[in-house]
Amino acid sequence: MTSRTEGERSRVLIGELAQHAGETVSIAGWVDVRRDQGKLIFFDFRDRTGIVQGVVLPARTEDEAQIALMETAKEVRNEYVVQVEGIVNKRPEKNVQADKQNGDIELEIKNIEVLNPAETLPFDISTDTSGIDESVRLKYRYLDLRSERLQKNMRMRSEFIQKCREFLFSNDFTEIETPLFTESTPEGSRDFVVPSRLNPGKFYALPQSPQQYKQLLMTAGFERYFQTARALRDEDLRGDRGFEHTQIDLEMSFVQMEEVMEMVEAMITKTVESMGLTIKEKPFPRISYKDAMEKYGADKFDLRTEEEKAQGILAYAWVVNFPFFEKTDEGGWTFTHNPFSMPIPEHVEWLMKGEHIEDILTTQYDLVCNGYESGGGSIRAHRPEILEATYKVMGYTEEQTQASVGHMLEAFKYGTPPHGGIALGVERNLMNLTGESYLREVQAFPMTRGGQTAVMNAPKPLAEKQLKELGIEIVKKPEGQQ
Ligand code: ASP
Repeated sequence: MTSRTEGERSRVLIGELAQHAGETVSIAGWVDVRRDQGKLIFFDFRDRTGIVQGVVLPARTEDEAQIALMETAKEVRNEYVVQVEGIVNKRPEKNVQADKQNGDIELEIKNIEVLNPAETLPFDISTDTSGIDESVRLKYRYLDLRSERLQKNMRMRSEFIQKCREFLFSNDFTEIETPLFTESTPEGSRDFVVPSRLNPGKFYALPQSPQQYKQLLMTAGFERYFQTARALRDEDLRGDRGFEHTQIDLEMSFVQMEEVMEMVEAMITKTVESMGLTIKEKPFPRISYKDAMEKYGADKFDLRTEEEKAQGILAYAWVVNFPFFEKTDEGGWTFTHNPFSMPIPEHVEWLMKGEHIEDILTTQYDLVCNGYESGGGSIRAHRPEILEATYKVMGYTEEQTQASVGHMLEAFKYGTPPHGGIALGVERNLMNLTGESYLREVQAFPMTRGGQTAVMNAPKPLAEKQLKELGIEIVKKPEGQQ
């Protein structure tokens, strides 16, 4: 065993130092700040559990070890990675900072071992970094992530997912992953596609959501499924929208709208309240799409007062009774939310007969919070003739419907239970929990607004050899053409 391993084993976490008053301990972490006062040198050390102040006391002329320590202390700079040995002293009453973590103790430093020095960082991470140029922040995202705000955001994200997961496990859900390589479908947003080397000229699509797979898992008899799924959509980027986002995606068999909504409401309530947040109104108020449009002019709205906004209160609401279809620019019909949805029971007959299309309401339920759509789902059409009728309304011929969702129609023939589900956007939820206005503040490695990856250099051209292998030729667009 090396001494480093031993050192690690004896390492005390900064958050636990207060329990070691009077003892000599070893801590490891980063130099948060160094304050050189000439005779005394103060440090703040940081690890994942917090911050503690340390001090190097003046050396007497004959004390060689202390003189050497003072020299090291003078060389050490912010963000150096160090292992520090010292005595945990209680601070004198007058120096106690009651409002600060470890404000009543101080580490009297006896030894500093530099595990790795650090160059001066390209930007200051000791304050809020949101004002710093985005491309610089993302180029050095691993440094940006060291800042207190982003540490907090990422830890809250982890806690949110953990708590939702625990809730779902305790309610008998099974966590199942679905493929990333899948089939391009004509609905929804633009797909990201991946060329197939083994099948030149053919492409996979990356999933916009696990929608079809989770329904097939209901056919497969799992009854309660969930996963934290990545959804990939080639959309124009906005503050609350990226190419990739994470969903807590779930599906349940033998349920009506009410049961899915109740399950999700219980999960959200338990999760956010156990994280110390307050919900404005419980049970979550419900409003029809029509009333929401009349009252708020939108299907996402903010129910908080100015004061509640300042207090970080969460105002959830359900929006229901959405129209199933809307007119396309060409004068046909398309779905508003999800082609796999079931109309409300009273309107199934209209759909089957292709009548009153504009009046057909869907079983869609959207969860709104503080002005964002934080989730959405529906009860699904689990019988083939209902899904076929939806595609017919949208102007698909039988062959086109088969080509698009034939595999779903086939699956529905073999005993698919009634089912429904929802997907909650992890980032949108975290934006509300943290009070952030941009999706990238709650993602570890987001993209720039121009679609450039953080730290790494994508997208970039492929080498000639790779293109050849994939059977792809790049056609240069004529000058000036978009
Ligand atoms: N697949 C839908 C979405 O990603 C959610 C759902 O209906 O479950 O928005």
